[in-house]
Amino acid sequence: MNRKPTRRQGRPPAFAYHQSRRGLLRRRSAERILHCDDVPLPGLAERLGTPLYVYSASAIRERVRAFDRAFRKVPHTLCYSVKANSNLGILRLLARLGCGFDVVSGGELERVLRADRRAAKKVVFSGVGKTTDEMRAALKAGILLFNVESESELGALAECAARLKQTARIALRINPDVPANTHPYISTGLHQHKFGLRSSEARGLYARASGSQHLKIAGVSVHIGSQITEVAPFALAMERVAELVGELRSDGHQIDYVDAGGGLGIAYGDEASPEFADHVAAYADALLRPLRGLKVHLLLEPGRAIVGAAGALLTRVLYRKHNDGKKFVVVDAAMNDLLRPALYDAYHEIAPVRLDEPPPEQREKLDVVGPVCETGDFFAHGRELPPVHEGDLLAILDAGAYGMALASNYNTRPRPAEVLVDGKSVRIIRRRETMDDLLRLET
Ligand SMILES: *Cc1c(COP(=O)(O)O)cnc(C)c1O
Repeated sequence: MNRKPTRRQGRPPAFAYHQSRRGLLRRRSAERILHCDDVPLPGLAERLGTPLYVYSASAIRERVRAFDRAFRKVPHTLCYSVKANSNLGILRLLARLGCGFDVVSGGELERVLRADRRAAKKVVFSGVGKTTDEMRAALKAGILLFNVESESELGALAECAARLKQTARIALRINPDVPANTHPYISTGLHQHKFGLRSSEARGLYARASGSQHLKIAGVSVHIGSQITEVAPFALAMERVAELVGELRSDGHQIDYVDAGGGLGIAYGDEASPEFADHVAAYADALLRPLRGLKVHLLLEPGRAIVGAAGALLTRVLYRKHNDGKKFVVVDAAMNDLLRPALYDAYHEIAPVRLDEPPPEQREKLDVVGPVCETGDFFAHGRELPPVHEGDLLAILDAGAYGMALASNYNTRPRPAEVLVDGKSVRIIRRRETMDDLLRLET
């Protein structure tokens, strides 16, 4: 096997073509085969069926390290945002790398506790609608920080902590009124959004919180949205946060933590993009410049940037058909497995798992669609691909974040299995659902 993989810039070497020696013996002169780390994808599909989520542990590790390197000059904790991909196998891997976690529900907290009980002390709890049950569970687990988003929530948390005779460490989530140039559904840092508090309002609330013996003011938090590819909005948000930290300290509050949230975007297209390490370095520079001299412990909540490019959804072509001059490729994955195209009109690069070597000049414009009974069930419109045949395998790339996490059983379709590849090793971290799994709760 040729050890020199071809890959796109900005993508970790997780999913790359390797030349196949086997191909040389066959009718084709040579073939490239898409691998995840050292594991050829056709074998995985044969063994475990499709659709199948495949993740690379080495890619996840590489990205965690890139963050740690970029922020090495300041005390920081990476609190991986569980909602991007909440599989226990992934959480366990991240816990072993020393990550903390950002959770937005009691369910996510439970996942973290089951992945690694000791990670509780590095958990931050975000979200506008925490229930008292969820607050109680988080207090009992001894989490690091509650990111509080409203006056009512602050009151509820104080009451809850009082009942448990505990103290809740809090940060207020500031809404910095910064536009993030991302999809409107995942933009969260404008005053018109439901998230956070205005700085002016926050100052009064910090004063109120300081009067409660069951609340301990510990920091300021912010999160302006997701899939943000420019660093300027992060810098703007941090400037607002830094200003507030100064004001709060002059009000006499102790501010140990700044939680900068997540949201760093990744390159989904096949255009040339900066290497990930450079991208994170620019991000670190944007965040750290306004915080210079503040002496805070920085919390980061990346989700997509850690796992997005580390996963692919493997799918098999069921049928080809054409309607009115349009060519369709119907695959066995659907919007229930990967909702991002339908929900956000998201672009995902699609790669044939086997590719002739040299790659054919001839390309076709294809709509890649799933079997679900909705026109919204698509993965690509008018995408130029090398010739695709029935039975071929395709890899929908950069599906590691908000892929399986958003999957559903729509159309009574069992959700895919998930595997974590690490070098040559393959671990099934979630088996494929069965019909019995789907029907178990119904009478
Ligand atoms: C969703 C979310 C994140 C993670 O966002 P990414 O774009 O995946 O990095 C971090 N923090 C909070 C509060 C979130 O809601």
